[in-house]
Amino acid sequence: MTKRFLSIGECMVEMAPAADGNFRMGFAGDTLNTAWYARRELGKDWDVAYFTAVGDDAISARMVDFLDASAIATDLIRRIPDRTVGLYLIQLDNGERSFAYWRSESAARRLAGDADILKANLATADLIYFSGITVAILPPSERHTLFAAIAEARANGATIAFDPNLRPRLWEDADTMRKAVMDAAAVSDILLPSFEDEANAFGDQNTEDTARRYSGQSVPIVIVKNGAGEMLALDRGNIQRFTPDPVARVVDTTAAGDSFNAAFLASYLRSGELSPALAAGAELAARVIGQRGALIDS
Ligand code: ADP
Repeated sequence: MTKRFLSIGECMVEMAPAADGNFRMGFAGDTLNTAWYARRELGKDWDVAYFTAVGDDAISARMVDFLDASAIATDLIRRIPDRTVGLYLIQLDNGERSFAYWRSESAARRLAGDADILKANLATADLIYFSGITVAILPPSERHTLFAAIAEARANGATIAFDPNLRPRLWEDADTMRKAVMDAAAVSDILLPSFEDEANAFGDQNTEDTARRYSGQSVPIVIVKNGAGEMLALDRGNIQRFTPDPVARVVDTTAAGDSFNAAFLASYLRSGELSPALAAGAELAARVIGQRGALIDS
């Protein structure tokens, strides 16, 4: 029987500068990037679905068309009348990228607005993937609706993977972010944090501090990514370390962590072994950072 990898979060319209000075429209978002790469990495025995909310306007329909064309299942996506999708624009100033966002009223913020629909959707999944960004964009009162639905799916046998993907500016304040992320960890089986973000937010001195803090929430597996540096995997008390091969020319680190997560999870779901999964994650991330853009075809 086909299994389902379900990623939950926000996909946005991306306007990126092209060489001719015009902007090129695309679609991106951390959880969407992971779903997109997971679709490539997983075999035909897995269906990859995206759960979000969009509007009922033309640009929302175009986003869903993009997901369909990427072979990502869209059957769970909610349509919220009178809302639309979020948008961000990338500006280049002397090679430095800066981002402007229009997402405060995006439809995706309502994805957990109906607890019954949420539970029914999550019940279709064998693996559920979400991130700190998924949680940050929700109204505070709906964050626990999401955690409760995830906890119920987990109790019914789903595996839960969570990347804290800490973005302090998306949160009301740092304490709220730290508390919500630890609450999300408490309903998860596999944590995929990035060390630099965690050190900034929690004051962790090293990757082992990060892993032990999350395993204190009863998370069985914690993979601490660390850019070009040594990663640490903590699996039910056992530590493994893994250093990615050096990348000769880093062009654009967008989606490094998202693509790592996809290839790691796809490999781990296949083999149940951490070592090949760490290598697969690092290998895909290395290819992604060697090219411009979040979604790399080859
Ligand atoms: P994020 O993009 O979430 O901040 P990281 O920067 O930790 O995550 O990177 C995710 C993964 O991408 C790393 O675990 C590593 O495999 C790969 N990676 C990132 N930067 C480099 C680099 N400079 N050289 C080699 N691999 C890298």
